[in-house]
Amino acid sequence: MAKELRQIAIYGKGGIGKSTTTQNLTAGLVEGGKKVMVVGCDPKADSTRLLLGGLAQKTVLDTLREEGDDIDLDLILKEGFKGTRCVESGGPEPGVGCAGRGIITSIGLLERLGAYTDDLDYVFYDVLGDVVCGGFAMPIREGKAKEIYIVASGEMMALYAANNISKGIARYARQGGVRLGGIICNSRNVDREVEVVRAFAKELGTQMIHFVPRDNVVQRAEIRKKTVIEYDPKCHQADEYRELAKKIEENEMFVIPKPITQDRLEEILVEYGLMDALEDDYRI
Ligand code: ADP
Ligand code: MG
Repeated sequence: MAKELRQIAIYGKGGIGKSTTTQNLTAGLVEGGKKVMVVGCDPKADSTRLLLGGLAQKTVLDTLREEGDDIDLDLILKEGFKGTRCVESGGPEPGVGCAGRGIITSIGLLERLGAYTDDLDYVFYDVLGDVVCGGFAMPIREGKAKEIYIVASGEMMALYAANNISKGIARYARQGGVRLGGIICNSRNVDREVEVVRAFAKELGTQMIHFVPRDNVVQRAEIRKKTVIEYDPKCHQADEYRELAKKIEENEMFVIPKPITQDRLEEILVEYGLMDALEDDYRI
C-alpha cells in the first residue's frame, strides 16, 4: 500500500533559520527511517547544502537554461545525507522577473520526471519570504503542500512576518485544504521568548510546536557543510532537532490561522516587555 505522503511548506522571515531548521529536521526524520525530499524554494539556493555536504547542486532554472527542456531527473535531484533527495529551484537574477518562477517550474518538472515516488514520506518546501505571494505561494496555492510551519523567534520583525504569512495562509486555506501545523520557535535568545511566542501562537489559534535553542554548534556544523545531526550526533542540539522531527511526525493540530491586527501584535510585545508602548507615530 502506498504511504501517506506529507507535503510540508516551511515559511518565515529571511535569515530566521528556515533552511537550517528544515535540513536538521529532515536529518532527524531520515535517521528514523523516513524517506524525505527537500525542495529549496529560495533563489539563494542554499536549502540543501548541509544535506549534500558541499556537493554543488545546480538549480532547476540554471539546468534548464544550460541543458534545454529535455533533461533527466538526476540532473536536478541529488541524493544527500542518508538518501535524502535534494532539489534547488533557483531563481532569476535579483530584480529580474518573478522571483518565485523557479518554484512553479520546479514542481511541474519534478512531477513530470516522476520525482514524487510512492516510497516518499515527506516533501519539504523551504520557501523564502515575509509574505505569501506570487510564485512563493505556489506550494500551497496549488494544493501541493497541505501543511505549513512558520519559523519565528521572539523578535518583533519575525513575529510581524509570521503574522503576515498567516494572512496568506488563511486566504489560501479558505479555498483549498492547506492548514497551519504550528510555529517553530528558532531562538534568538530574546527575554521571555517561549512565553511571547506561545502567546502569539495561541492568539493565531495554533501552537508553538517546538522551541529550538540557539547554539553555536549550528555554526560549527555549517562551516563543515553538515547538519548538526551528522556533524555531532550526540550533542544536545541534535536531540532538539530529533524532538522537533518527532513532534511534526506526531502532530495532529492543523488549523486555519486567525491573523491578528498590528495593534494586537504590539500589545502582546508590550505585555511581554519586548517593546515599549509606542506613540501612534512610531507604529509599524
Ligand atoms: P533562512 O533560511 O531562514 O534564511 P538560515 O537557515 O540560512 O535562514 O539561517 C541563518 C543563519 O542563522 C545560519 O547561517 C545559521 O548559522 C544561523 N542559525 C539558524 N538557526 C540557528 C540556531 N538554532 N542556533 C544558532 N544559529 C542558527
Ligand atoms: Mg534559507
